[in-house]
Amino acid sequence: MPSAPKWFFDTLDFFVSQIPQVEVSKIESLSPSVKRISLQGYFEKLQFSVGAFFDIRVSDTDARRYTVAEINTEKDNLKLIAHIHGNGCGSDFMDNLKIGDKITLNKPRTEQKYYDKSAEKIVFFGDETSLALACSFLPIMQEQNKPYQFILELDEENKHVPGLLGLKNSIVFPKTGLFLNPDWIKDLTIFKTEDWSDAYYVLTGNVKSVQNFRKVIKKQSNARVKHHGYWLQGKKGL
Ligand SMILES: Cc1cc2nc3c(=O)[nH]c(=O)nc-3n(C[C@H](O)[C@H](O)[C@H](O)COP(=O)(O)OP(=O)(O)OC[C@H]3O[C@@H](n4cnc5c(N)ncnc54)[C@H](O)[C@@H]3O)c2cc1C
Repeated sequence: MPSAPKWFFDTLDFFVSQIPQVEVSKIESLSPSVKRISLQGYFEKLQFSVGAFFDIRVSDTDARRYTVAEINTEKDNLKLIAHIHGNGCGSDFMDNLKIGDKITLNKPRTEQKYYDKSAEKIVFFGDETSLALACSFLPIMQEQNKPYQFILELDEENKHVPGLLGLKNSIVFPKTGLFLNPDWIKDLTIFKTEDWSDAYYVLTGNVKSVQNFRKVIKKQSNARVKHHGYWLQGKKGL
């Protein structure tokens, strides 16, 4: 979500109906740079499909996208997972939230259909920005008893976070540029076994990593791929 003049966001806020009384109810620091933020509010009339996200106004002139990681059955409490990378207004906004803060939220959106019911096996790739999407996938995969695999590139300080989030079947790689190298990607175990050759791939996170991973999948197999780069090095507000 890009930047826009203040009047534009003010007009949107005025005309677009907002979810009433959304308040920060809990903040968990899962690591120095990953926070799970619980929001209390009236969400019962809203649809939350896998990968639903909010465009959150994080300053007078900027909105940023954050995925709904989970919502409780009463539909009055949901969780976001934010990467506090320290280099942007979205990250700063999330980092500065305090319990009791009120947040202005419009309806959640889903631009892409991430989950494909017909998929028998799912391989999910991403980074810290993808953890919420991974969490939104997890209950469906477990409920349907389908094989799944999370492949994550994470900073060293975050390598334990998938465990804290209950993301079983996670393989964590250090975020040292490995996924910028297609020759390295093609040697991943996943491409060496028949078991995953017909999997459905969901690729999110760093645009460059996503592009490289997708290229290799296309070369190595006929697998179906859903890809959505979440951020691009050097670009604000993708
Ligand atoms: C559909 C969708 C859902 C998303 N869901 C989530 C989510 O649940 N949690 C989440 O944390 N993010 C999520 N993102 C990614 C998030 O919106 C971007 O990372 C966004 O750029 C953060 O805004 P910012 O203001 O912090 O940085 P920006 O102002 O956009 O960028 C400033 C600088 O920081 C760099 N940068 C941006 N993001 C990162 C990063 N993660 N790591 C390192 N450098 C970065 C940029 O390249 C740029 O150089 C999602 C994105 C999309 C498109």
